[in-house]
This record gives sequence, C-alpha cells and structure tokens, in this order.
Amino acid sequence: MNLNRQEVEASYWHAVSDGRVECDLCPQRCVICDGDRGECNLRENRGGSLYAAAYGELVSTAIDPIEKKPIYHFHPGDYVLSTGPNGCNLRCRGCQNFQISQDKTATHYLSAEALAQLAAAHDSPGIAYTYTEPLVWWEYVRDSCLAARDRGLYNVAVTNGFLEEEPAREIAAYLDAANVDIKSLSDEFYRDYCGGRLEPVLRTAAIFKEHLHLEITHLLVPDLNDGEDEVAAFVKWVLENLGRDTPVHFSRYFPHFKMDAPPTPTHHLLRAKEIADRDLYYVYLGNVAGIGGTDTSCPQCGNLLVNRRGYSAEVVGLKDGKCNNCGRPSEIVL
Ligand code: SF4
Repeated sequence: MNLNRQEVEASYWHAVSDGRVECDLCPQRCVICDGDRGECNLRENRGGSLYAAAYGELVSTAIDPIEKKPIYHFHPGDYVLSTGPNGCNLRCRGCQNFQISQDKTATHYLSAEALAQLAAAHDSPGIAYTYTEPLVWWEYVRDSCLAARDRGLYNVAVTNGFLEEEPAREIAAYLDAANVDIKSLSDEFYRDYCGGRLEPVLRTAAIFKEHLHLEITHLLVPDLNDGEDEVAAFVKWVLENLGRDTPVHFSRYFPHFKMDAPPTPTHHLLRAKEIADRDLYYVYLGNVAGIGGTDTSCPQCGNLLVNRRGYSAEVVGLKDGKCNNCGRPSEIVL
C-alpha cells in the first residue's frame, strides 16, 4: 500500500537546462533528466524538480549491537534500531553489502515518525542509519533524527562521508555519533576502487569531529592500502586532523562483489595496530576473530575499561566517567 507515502522534494539541487536538474548533495553532482534517478538510486527528477524518491523506503531493519556499526565509545553495549536505504553514491569494488547498496531490491515504507515510534516500542535508545549509504537518504535521515530526538532517542550514522560541505554541516546538527569510513588516503584509490574522491570524505570527517562523537573505520586491503607506509600516513592524518582520542577501527577485507583477492593476512592487521598504537589512544581490529584488538584500556594506566566479546560489551573500569584505577576522565559517552 502506497497510501501513506510522502512526496518529499529534495534539498540541495538546482535546475540546469531542458528540464534537467543538478543534485548538489554529494560530489557526484549528478545531472539528472526528467524521470531519471541519480547514481545513488535515491533521488529522482520529477517534472524538472528533484525529489527524495526513496524517502521512507527501508531496505533492511534490525536491532543491532552498537558495537557492530562499529561504534565503541558511544553507549557501549546498547542495542539500536538500525536501518538504511537501497542505494549508495559510491561504487566500491569490494562492497560487502552490494546486494542492498548496488542492486535494486525490495523496500518497505515507514514514515520518519513511525520509525521513531518503532525504535521506542522496541526500547531502542536510538536509531542507527547504516547498512548502505544513509547520508544520501538525507531528507529522511533529517526527519527521522528530529522524530527520534522528540522521544529522547539518539541518532547514529555509519557513512562513507562522501558529501558536499553544506549538507554535511547541516546533517551533523541532527546526529549524535557517526562512524566515517576512510577507505584510503589515496585519491587514486578512491577514483579507481570506489568511483569517488578522497578530499570530501576527509572534510566530512573533520566536520563531524567538530560537532558529534566520531569514530573512523579503515578497511585494510592487501597490497592496496595495508603497507606500513600507507598505514603510517593514515595514522598521521588522523592524529593531526581528528586527534589521538578518535577511535580507529582497522577492518579486515574479505573478497566480495568485484574483488577476489584473498582476505587481509591477520599479521598485517596486527602490524597496523602496532603502528597506530604509537600515536593514537584507541585502535581496534574488526571483521576478524581470535586476535584481540577489541577491548578498551585507559590510555594513561592501561586499566581495562570496556571488555568486549564478539559484539557484546561490558563496561568494567569506569566510575563516574573516570578510570576507576587512575582517575583519568574518559572520552567514552555512557
Ligand atoms: S546524492 Fe545521489 S543524485 Fe545526488 S549527486 Fe550524489 S549520487 Fe547523484
């Protein structure tokens, strides 16, 4: 039934010529003919105006541990209603969710208000916008964030960060936490493997760091970005632009979609962590079991603060927001 679907005109676009419009939301800057959609499959030219065509169209919905996003320093241990749209503005060759991000698939409709109601009904403390690329679902995320805040719920986004500056700044005001995926510090990598560019991603990460709780995911792909020099350059950028207290998650690559190289050797992940641990306080290993790299320790005294097993988390070393051993104030939001 489509009766309750909303026609929502998109933000961030302008008319060009011959009924075409240019979308100003992300750096793809699609020029879209009447009746067509942009690269992300979420925005459509209807009669010379751009519409948020996937507004309220959910491709997947589940209650997930917040650690699965991964977000480790914002309400550890919470289970959060999570959802996302059927589309993405990048074309990563190794996409792990290509069935719902690149292929067109069935969705179901939920208004922003109904999504917030659903979260509250499941005792979820917030909503996570995730799975594909939620920030080009911009208008729905904005409205859902507002509906969630009205109920005292928080908002979390897991994003590729490939946005123009103004919409990134605007959406930052509605979010409480985010994980931005910095896939490489090489613009060539972004162009060749993702169909995007590096600089807008770094800009979004820096904007989010100013306004909300930020964590970074960095997928290590063998022979493409897991060398010691590449890891050191990435760590240097994080240190100089986001600060040493920004949690970084090195994630293990597995072959997916159009990439068939074997998985990242685990010793490459351990080496990356060793390099990053010299300069950053909180470095984690993800998408890999049995080699550690998931607990949080106090950067001052080494006391165990959060114990993690799989996606479960137990806060064991904090009292009144401080390390219960040395008293260092913790950046973890509880
Ligand atoms: S948000 Fe979508 S339609 Fe707009 S420029 Fe990016 S890919 Fe194109």
